[in-house]
Amino acid sequence: MSSKNLLESILSALSNEVRAEVLKLISREGPLSFTEIMEKLNMNPKTDAGKFGYHLRMLTDAELIVADESSGKYYLTLFGVDVANFIYGVEDALRRKKGDMLVRTSSLTIEPFDRKKIVDALMREANVPRKLAESISKEAEDRLKKPQVRYLTAALIREFVNAILLEKGLEEYRHSLTRLGQPVYDVTTTIKSSAFKDYPSPERVHARAGDAVLEEYMLLKVLPRTIADAHLSGAIHINNANYWVLRPADLQHDLRPILEGKIPADGTGLSEPVHFAPKTFTGALYTVNSLLSSSSSLVSNSQSVGFFNIFLAPYLKNLKDAEIRLGLREFLYALNAKFNGIAGSTIAFNVELEIPQFLEKVKAVGPDKDSGLYADYHEQALKLLEILLEVLEEPDGASKPLLNPAIFVKMRKKALLTNDARECLVQAYELSKKWGTVYFINNTLPWQQENVFYNSTLSRVDSGWKDWESGTMRVGSLDNITINLPRISYESKGDDDKLMEHLREMLDLCKEALSIKRQILEDRIQSDNLLPLYKETIDGNPYFRLKDSPGIVSYVGLPEAVKYHTGSDLEDSEDALKLAIKIVSLMDEYATQCQPSQRILSSSITFEPAASRLTNLDVAAGYLKAKTATPYTEHSNLPLTTAVPLKTRLKMEEIFQQLTKGGHLFDIRLDEPFPTEDVLANYTKRMIETTGIGLLTFTRDYTYCFQCKSIAYGFRNKCPRCGYDGNRSVYYTKAFGRYKSSRAWSSEERDFAINNQRFTI
Ligand SMILES: [Zn+2]
Repeated sequence: MSSKNLLESILSALSNEVRAEVLKLISREGPLSFTEIMEKLNMNPKTDAGKFGYHLRMLTDAELIVADESSGKYYLTLFGVDVANFIYGVEDALRRKKGDMLVRTSSLTIEPFDRKKIVDALMREANVPRKLAESISKEAEDRLKKPQVRYLTAALIREFVNAILLEKGLEEYRHSLTRLGQPVYDVTTTIKSSAFKDYPSPERVHARAGDAVLEEYMLLKVLPRTIADAHLSGAIHINNANYWVLRPADLQHDLRPILEGKIPADGTGLSEPVHFAPKTFTGALYTVNSLLSSSSSLVSNSQSVGFFNIFLAPYLKNLKDAEIRLGLREFLYALNAKFNGIAGSTIAFNVELEIPQFLEKVKAVGPDKDSGLYADYHEQALKLLEILLEVLEEPDGASKPLLNPAIFVKMRKKALLTNDARECLVQAYELSKKWGTVYFINNTLPWQQENVFYNSTLSRVDSGWKDWESGTMRVGSLDNITINLPRISYESKGDDDKLMEHLREMLDLCKEALSIKRQILEDRIQSDNLLPLYKETIDGNPYFRLKDSPGIVSYVGLPEAVKYHTGSDLEDSEDALKLAIKIVSLMDEYATQCQPSQRILSSSITFEPAASRLTNLDVAAGYLKAKTATPYTEHSNLPLTTAVPLKTRLKMEEIFQQLTKGGHLFDIRLDEPFPTEDVLANYTKRMIETTGIGLLTFTRDYTYCFQCKSIAYGFRNKCPRCGYDGNRSVYYTKAFGRYKSSRAWSSEERDFAINNQRFTI
């Protein structure tokens, strides 16, 4: 046929709506038989066959479709494809002209419907091949035309496209295309109920809505299906799921580069005033405060400062005690205004009672060009610590405690042998007795290495990894994944080998998830520029030592898992204890085997309450009866609510602390009347000298009366001073290792604070 004749027959082929529909149908669905086409166009094969045959012949003659001899199906010629697309284009243009099919977009504009945008989105967002994207978009358009949709939104179009993807078995594409977010109903519920869940604030409502999106994003897009499913089903718990894709959990700062003026406190120097290298004590404290406050959004849980009293000691030169005190007081008030213990991250200071050997020969950063060596500042470091502890002991203007920083006092051999640090220790025990915010680190144990730091998440890093600098400074926990040990027990049905095999499987999942987290942080720091301070380089290396930072694998429910497997309580039976040690040892060994390629540490500490979620999921899975189920043991190796002598707890902690190098705590919760400082001192000394406990703290409960602004020790229903018994009294105690006021307790923290056993020593 000549081209002129062909054009004529194409134009006449198009002059009928049925024929145009046939072209569109085949273009959408691929090759179809005579009867399939009729059925899909709602024609009757008996009565309409003749007329329909005529339409098909017209299309065949115009070389738009062709029949495949063997299958009997009609498909589009290359010509036919062009013409079908031309019809779609004309239809689009017509609709735009008529002004129907207007779409409300997510960028808050109203635009005419444009099928190409669906094609583009499918290709851009999910890497769908063009041909497939074309066919899906055509189907979506046809479907959208049918119902009398009056209010067409981009979100609705997306739902249609996603439904089509699901029907076609293209679920993987759908995961990339789906929208993340909350149903309208959930947002309303968040607004209405936030004030009853924790501290009331519009910011919290806003944060919760964002949490939901980023948690879904992590589960749908970032983690492989096996890991996401393990989290959702309760085999593991991913801590900080709301921020998993954005930042690490905690960080150990090194103050020296900031004090030297080598890097600005906010990383870029653009969002905050950049100060000179400080020449005075107050200047140095101001610098520390800027660093901590601008870094508060760079961690999910806590920041810690190592060698606080040593690194600031060079700035004490010629200062009177009163001046040091004033400087520290102002610093601590500013710090607690930012870190108010209600929402957001917390602060820890690791302090020393002597200059550790490895620091003695290190050049000190100080106000002068040559400030000597840190060995020269022994006296000043102790003076600074003593006054810091004194100021922390003073109540604020309304008689409340300053809860930040938590103080981690490192006890090394030399300081314990000499009398030099006596005054500091006296202050530490007094602060312990007054507010309970002190933690004692036993640095005499070989497994604590030459240097160890704890953060206020109770995560732990030591210098066994490379050296004291790369191992403990400018590193932080990437995050924490918690293994549900009882679940492993249920699934092993008493079989020891299976138990260990299941545990190893879970450890493999955790390892993979943590390695993904490391990669994500690399992207956030290097290519996304989301964590500017971490990228800032010091002598060619980034501030945040990502490769040296550990991923934490923790556990809940050790006693419950062991009890289910052996039938006995951990504290009563040798077999049960043996199994518990085997479980925790395997975790420790596994972590060691991951090194040096990946730093992983095992821990008995979760960064957020996980036990009640995991227990509920085990109830839902039928492993536990709802009526009798109580949340699994968390933050401890023995149940905390049942009566177990302190001695037994001590024995257990001794065994397990050396196996949990990523974090642990022996939290000694004491009853009133509280022991004297001397009793605390003797008890601590005995623990350091004779036991394998690496970290311990004493916890005291107290009640604050808003009416008369006073503190009464213990939890009181009625203020002993003014008799006030209303709801404006506030309780304080350590919940999951950290002091918090009861105004900020979650329901898990409330249970932990109220129900756990208290002791006398
Ligand atoms: Zn009162």
